Amino acid sequence: MRISAVRAHPAGAPLRRPFAFSQWLFTHRETLIVEVETAEGITGWGEAYGPAKPNAAAVMEFFAPKILGRDPRDTEDLWQFLFARSLDYGQKGTMLAALSALDIAFWDIRAKDAGRPLYRALGAARQRSVRCYATGFYPPREDDGETAEARFEAEAAQYRAMGFRAAKMKVGFGLERDVHLVETVRRALGEEIRLMIDANHAYDPITAVALARRVEQHDIGWFEEPVSPLDMEGYLEVKRGTTIPIAGGECEATRFAFEPWLRRRAFDYAQPDLCACGGISEGMKIATLASAHSVHVTPHAWGSAIGQAAALQFYAARPRHPGSLTPEEKWIECDSTENPFRTEIVAEPVRFEAGEWLLPEAPGLGVEIDRDALKRFAL
Ligand code: CA
Repeated sequence: MRISAVRAHPAGAPLRRPFAFSQWLFTHRETLIVEVETAEGITGWGEAYGPAKPNAAAVMEFFAPKILGRDPRDTEDLWQFLFARSLDYGQKGTMLAALSALDIAFWDIRAKDAGRPLYRALGAARQRSVRCYATGFYPPREDDGETAEARFEAEAAQYRAMGFRAAKMKVGFGLERDVHLVETVRRALGEEIRLMIDANHAYDPITAVALARRVEQHDIGWFEEPVSPLDMEGYLEVKRGTTIPIAGGECEATRFAFEPWLRRRAFDYAQPDLCACGGISEGMKIATLASAHSVHVTPHAWGSAIGQAAALQFYAARPRHPGSLTPEEKWIECDSTENPFRTEIVAEPVRFEAGEWLLPEAPGLGVEIDRDALKRFAL
């Protein structure tokens, strides 16, 4: 089998209702879908996290010419080759996002060629579904005409009706406002639904600990990105200061960068993004390292249906440790914000039922791009 063409599809769409997180206001979304075509007629799809056009340039100008004619099923060899060729220019960010997209596409092809869903090609037994948590509760823009409180109450009702048993909300808007919003969401969700909080690295360690202590009483499942991803000591300080488990790692890439975080258990939940950390190949290595240090892995997933499927397949196959007859339930991220790339660019999105994703039974990632829809979002 040989690679006959690589294509990059930068996609963008304005949001009908802009929303904020602790770093900026989202008014549109964009992503990069990557297509790898083989002479044998099997096509693989991947996705790169981050700015679509710079990622497209890395895929098309830098990586694509180096892999034409290669066998895409040689996933390990290709990863090492492409990483070695880009190492001197970027060990995370654009170069790794581009490599991630290609690796996901290679794995899609490899699993399609094997006639198995990707998670089974990775060695996992058949599973029906995985539990997921809703990512939402982003405050609206101030001139939106709706208060955060009103919007959050409607969202909570929606998640309950959809059968979610866990949800994650944004914090990082200032201590008092955060405490108020956590109280609002907790009241709206009720006591039965797990609630996680995510500051997107808005705080210094002292403020993060102060917030954690103020909201501990609300049974918080984890506190995600409390402090800067560049401050490992800060993470350890927050961990020492609260009983809430700590999550992080979405800004990190490769086993090499994750290793000290896992060895020091700077977070309890590692959150590599498959579209940024190096793809399926590297995600599995990060998860293996994490298992050796008893750190849970639950991927960050905020992209299109392709990235969502990659995260789901990876999650179903990830190594787990310790084992138990009655393991505690874990969750995978289910972005529940406005995102046409999750729902509109594939012929059939991953099926969702009562708070769970059903694992696709088709070979590969299990989702196929609708080319006409992809064209509508072309940047
Ligand atoms: Ca996050």
